[in-house]
This record gives sequence, C-alpha cells and structure tokens, in this order.
Amino acid sequence: MKKLVVLVFIFVFLLVFPGLADKTVRDSEDATHILVGEVTGVEGYYDYNEYGDYLIFSRVTVRVDKELKGRAEKFISFSVEGGEVGELGLRVSNTPVFKKGQVHRLYLKKLNAIYKLIKQEKIKPEAKPQTECCATFAKWPQNTASFYLNPNCNDMTPNCTYSEIDRGSGDWQPVFKLVIAGTTSMTKVKQDYQNIVFFRKAKGGSTIAVTYTWYNRTTGIIIEFDMMFYDGWKYFSFDRNCTSACNGGFYLSVIAAHEFGHAIGLDHNDCTASIMYPYADYCETGLVQSVDRTCAATIY
Ligand SMILES: [Zn+2]
Repeated sequence: MKKLVVLVFIFVFLLVFPGLADKTVRDSEDATHILVGEVTGVEGYYDYNEYGDYLIFSRVTVRVDKELKGRAEKFISFSVEGGEVGELGLRVSNTPVFKKGQVHRLYLKKLNAIYKLIKQEKIKPEAKPQTECCATFAKWPQNTASFYLNPNCNDMTPNCTYSEIDRGSGDWQPVFKLVIAGTTSMTKVKQDYQNIVFFRKAKGGSTIAVTYTWYNRTTGIIIEFDMMFYDGWKYFSFDRNCTSACNGGFYLSVIAAHEFGHAIGLDHNDCTASIMYPYADYCETGLVQSVDRTCAATIY
C-alpha cells in the first residue's frame, strides 16, 4: 500500500515537474544506501567523465553517523563533478558543493564497491531561509562575455538554434551583455579559455542542461564557462517558422536563460518566480525576470 502511494506521488510529481533544469526526485527509490554523516574531507582532482569532458572532481569523505538504508563502513567516499585544485575552481550547475564539517543525508548507489551520489539533503549548517530570490557564487571582471555556439540541435535548424540561444542569453541585458562570437564544432567541456555552448546527443536522466563555470578561487573571478544541453529532450522555439507549438518539451530559450544565469555567476534560489528556480515545467515561457536582473545587478 505504502509503495503504491509513493508510486502515485512520483507519477503525479513527474507530470507536474517533467524535468529539472538540473535534476528530479525519484532518487530514493534507486538508492542502495541512505546514510547520514559529516563531511570529513574534500579533495579536488582532474579527470575525465563518461563523455570525455576534462573536469575538476571532488572526492568527498564522510564519517557515517546513521544508516537509514543499507549497511556501510565507518567512513565512505564518493566523487562528484566540480571542486577546486590550486587556484582554480569549477562550479557544476547540477551538483552540490561539499564542504568539511557539513552534515548531509546522502542517497547513494553502491556498485562494485564504489558509491555514486544520487542526491543529498544538507542537514547542517541549516540552509538559511532565502529572503531575496538571489544567490551568487562568482562574477566576471566586466558585465559582458562572448561565447561560441555549436548549433547542432536535433529539433531545429542551426539558424533557429542560434536565434533561440541568442534570445535566452540576450535576456540578461542590460545588466549583462552576452554575445555569440561565432560557431564551433566542439562538443566537450574542458578548461581552455573558450566559452562554448553545445548539444550532447544523449538523454541526461532527468537533467536537461548543465553549465560548467570555471573561476579563480582567491578572487572569485569567472574565467570561462561551458554549457551543454542534453539533446534527448525535445526543444521548441517561440518562432512558428522554426518548430511547431511546444508540446512535451521545453522552449530552448527558457532553459538557455536559466543556464546563462549560471554562466554569469548566479546560483539556484527558492523563488518560483525566478528564472534561477531549479525546477522546469514543460513548455514554460518565463524568461529572465526583473528579480533576476536585480540579483545580477548586485555583482555587476
Ligand atoms: Zn540550474
């Protein structure tokens, strides 16, 4: 009976929130382990992910204080994308940032003795209730940046992709000016001082798109971003000459506006009116809101 209630809840939830700009909650079902523990170590290192992106990862070590599901060792560790090595930091928009001393409830999948993080809920320090619809983590030295676009998207022509990405990025004006400097054929993330935006021919689970923002640890200055859209989702344009009316998918410019928020240093917030709210509905039409420009104006 309880399982049925959970399944009905998940079904309703996925109807309402088909995809998160960055993730969804079916997770606890997949977890082999649900543990509560304190982060005792975070170590940054470089490596490749399954798509060949060359990234900074964090190996997180946790002292297990409570086992809610599954038996575990006293100390466990797992790796997540994002972290810091030397002077360089990498913020990955769909991955939490772990710090020593934090206490989390962790949903993990253990496979061949390796733990993979599915999701976490921070218990300590308690998340401060957000008063404003605004959270930032780094900033560009000036309020303008240019990027290269790989317009190879399954659902529309390169010209239409270009104009949708231009619409989403352009909506941060006048606070921040994002310019498409040209096109590229690149399809991998790496730190090379080139800002690229591309489509990955894969379905990222319930993740729609991810922005990788490289910054200087000491100055908090952004030096580069790479942005990837999973092409396993259906993307639509507001221009009827480009696609049919939106149905069972997302307006590309809406998802892009959210991701470019990350590219200029904004984090998620809890305000449903904000473009930086981490959940996305099918066919949502809201682009950058005045509350978002006000937030960007706090750093530019
Ligand atoms: Zn996001």
